[in-house]
Amino acid sequence: MAKRPTKDAAELIPDHPTLSSLRDTAKNCQACDLYKRGTQTVFGEGSRKARLMFVGEQPGDAEDLAGHPFVGPAGKLLDRALADAGIDRSTVYVTNVVKHFKWEPRGKRRIHKKPNAGEIAACRPWLDTEIAVVKPRAIVCLGATAAQSLLGRQFKVTAHRGEFVASTLAPIMLATVHPSSILRAPDDETRRSEMKRFTDDLRKVARALRKSEV
Ligand code: SF4
Repeated sequence: MAKRPTKDAAELIPDHPTLSSLRDTAKNCQACDLYKRGTQTVFGEGSRKARLMFVGEQPGDAEDLAGHPFVGPAGKLLDRALADAGIDRSTVYVTNVVKHFKWEPRGKRRIHKKPNAGEIAACRPWLDTEIAVVKPRAIVCLGATAAQSLLGRQFKVTAHRGEFVASTLAPIMLATVHPSSILRAPDDETRRSEMKRFTDDLRKVARALRKSEV
């Protein structure tokens, strides 16, 4: 009898998951239709002992092709903000709420399309297991999709960015904008001030992490 495609990501999670077994298994995930559209599963990356985890929305065009998270223009901006905030990129873990690129064609371009609630819920077991394996002391949600997924649908990044929020997922939890929103700023001055605010949010997390270690 033909094997039925798996429809629940939770069924795929290994009994004693490690980041590498999760990454391997997630390659075959078909828990929502996005696997048909993306080039490949783009799983989270970073140290298993990372104290700081960044959670974004989904891989973008460059990430989908490369198979790695945060390697496109938004990832480069994140790298710059991390360096300015004094955070070593090799000590963080970066991932997304949804592991496949959702897009629609516009001419020859693939334009980002926001994942829906069903796709976010279908992908959640992967994120929950990444958090359970890495056990970060701090999680930073990048943008509204990540923030509402981890902090509840009522959470508004516009109202509460840069504030510490109580969560069972990590001792330190904060939401800020997605770096791609800074790239979309209408002019250089806005982009500079948004970049400064973003870097300040990261500095705040770095300070809280240092404090939690003493
Ligand atoms: S987006 Fe997530 S749930 Fe959907 S197929 Fe990809 S890995 Fe599976």
